[in-house]
Amino acid sequence: MEKPVTSPERASARTLVGKCQCGAVHYAVADEFVYAANCHCANCRRATGSAFKPFAGIARDKLRITSGADHLMIFGDDDGHDARCQACGSLLYSVVRDGAFVHVAMGTLVDDPAIRPSKHIFVGSKAPWFTITDDLPQYAAHAEATASAGGPAS
Ligand SMILES: [Zn+2]
Ligand SMILES: [Zn+2]
Repeated sequence: MEKPVTSPERASARTLVGKCQCGAVHYAVADEFVYAANCHCANCRRATGSAFKPFAGIARDKLRITSGADHLMIFGDDDGHDARCQACGSLLYSVVRDGAFVHVAMGTLVDDPAIRPSKHIFVGSKAPWFTITDDLPQYAAHAEATASAGGPAS
């Protein structure tokens, strides 16, 4: 019997579908997110109109627009921008880290990803009217920066 091409840890690799509110834009992304977090920074709050933005990060080339690319509204430049549907305004993903990664707005995923947000970041600028009630680690700003300065804020 022929051996599977994928290694066991990659055997579950699959493609997730996501879309905007009106359905004009659809994307496909590999279920291989490297990290996921809830960002409480003011930009993410305003971009989503929410207390925080749950997002998942992955290499940019693992996401592709499968329909409605001509409906994308780009806010920013090629190496760093938010991508929305220009018809309904849904924030679909952000291109970050000099264009190398995308942060998928997890609320636009149709399928359930393997990853879960594992921390709260930019809690230092969180909305005062919102209380974090879970036990995930909290960081005042970027997790990396805070971690090197002594671990999660509490
Ligand atoms: Zn739309
Ligand atoms: Zn943010």
